[in-house]
Amino acid sequence: MSATDAADTTIRPDTTIRADTTDAAGTALGPRFREALAEAALVHQHQRRKGSDTPYVSHLLAVTALVLEHGGDEDQAIAALFHDAVEDQDLALDDLAARYGERVAMIVGACTDTLTDTAERGAATWRARKERYIAHLGEASPDVLLVSASDKVHNARAILVDVRAAGMTAFSRFNAGPDELRWYYRSLVEIFGDRFPGPLTDELSQTVAEIEAFVDDAALTRRHDMSAIVDDVQVKPGTPSRLLERDPAAKLGVGDKEAGAARLAERIVELSDLQNRLWAESSRSVLLVLQGLDASGKDGTIRSVFTGVNPQGTQVTSFKVPTTTELAHDFLWRVHAACPARGEIGIFNRSHYEDLVTVYVKEIGGRRDRSWWKARVRAINEFERALSAEGTTILKVFLHVSKDEQGKRFHERMTDPHKAWKFRMGDLDDRKIFEAFMAGYDRAITETSTVLAPWHVVPADRNWMRNLAVAELLVEAVRKLDPQLPPPPVELANGALVIP
Ligand code: ADP
Repeated sequence: MSATDAADTTIRPDTTIRADTTDAAGTALGPRFREALAEAALVHQHQRRKGSDTPYVSHLLAVTALVLEHGGDEDQAIAALFHDAVEDQDLALDDLAARYGERVAMIVGACTDTLTDTAERGAATWRARKERYIAHLGEASPDVLLVSASDKVHNARAILVDVRAAGMTAFSRFNAGPDELRWYYRSLVEIFGDRFPGPLTDELSQTVAEIEAFVDDAALTRRHDMSAIVDDVQVKPGTPSRLLERDPAAKLGVGDKEAGAARLAERIVELSDLQNRLWAESSRSVLLVLQGLDASGKDGTIRSVFTGVNPQGTQVTSFKVPTTTELAHDFLWRVHAACPARGEIGIFNRSHYEDLVTVYVKEIGGRRDRSWWKARVRAINEFERALSAEGTTILKVFLHVSKDEQGKRFHERMTDPHKAWKFRMGDLDDRKIFEAFMAGYDRAITETSTVLAPWHVVPADRNWMRNLAVAELLVEAVRKLDPQLPPPPVELANGALVIP
């Protein structure tokens, strides 16, 4: 560029910006636009893009660029610059109308959340707000559709870039989960396809399809990884449990504690959603049976896996040495009474397997004969079959801790004042017959791992592995049920109800 060219294009401080005349098509950008550009940058100066450091104005510039590239005029470009200013920065529509004209204010108003009242906006759910927005696009003018489609194209592009870089965790910056966002963008593609066909909508449709492909791929990989863990720990019905050959410190291909913790965090989110649906559906239940020798981590597993779930839909029952009343009944009496109701996830901290293994190994009541064992196994298998026929998914987990690790944990309980409350003299007695307990569980697991109520031997020397494996088993079990939210009451279907 020559010195003269440079001088021609440089705006010096004393230069007055000359008003351009707008051509017949109204496409020339004049001082109004330049003013709007500066004002939008100022209004949004402290705002950043969700979950990043990128100045918010980048989004406004990109949307404006899309509007102009797709034939937008000056009013539409100005509206693009301000399309979020009313909602995010409380700019008054009247001010916009006074400065830039009614048409600009009308477009911005239509791009703004239709619930402008802050209290009302705060009260409406994310889904309700988006449903309103989509319905509103069904009636919006072409002016509005151009700006809105440009906005959605740029947002969809940003999501795609993020999911490529950060995987599924990219969704954590949104108020909605991946499934809800998917529904929203799919609905946008449909409404724009109807109302605003053309290159912009094509681009939106392609970007959304790419995001969907990514999410589906991630779900497939996740399911594959999950199935790998589930496969490793499950005792196939009709095969020996091989309890003694399994490694209590196995990592099952997960890598390390950090990787395990990240995966657990995802499972907890998933479990929360699935449990909510199970609870709402209220027709089936899940029973998690947790067995394991002392200090295998039954309490810790429950604490960590169920952190995200609604306590209302879960019920934990700890089975202790039976009381006199309990002993006056059949051994399944107290167990049956504690089984989860429809919609619930029931957690057994110890279970009817105490009535088989502990009673046998410790020869409680002199029970040590083979026919007694066989009768109990039969009773348990029949009981579980009956529960399953009534809609309970049974998941049995043996937390497999090594004798060394148990010894370390006992030592901690005996020396750490914060853990001393867990110490029980009886635990030391049971440790003396550790091997007999293991042999008892080996046999019990082999004989009671059925198609309807399979056993899983979860390595429990590492807390993170134990928690992750149990979380994955649960998520997979509830996911298979695919619980559905019940349809809304018929009275809501016609939308004519008014809140009195
Ligand atoms: P936990 O160790 O589960 O935290 P406790 O220290 O109270 O709780 O232990 C419960 C004890 O009750 C265990 O030793 C367990 O073997 C025993 N127990 C549970 N159910 C039975 C049963 N049906 N018959 C005999 N003993 C049982």
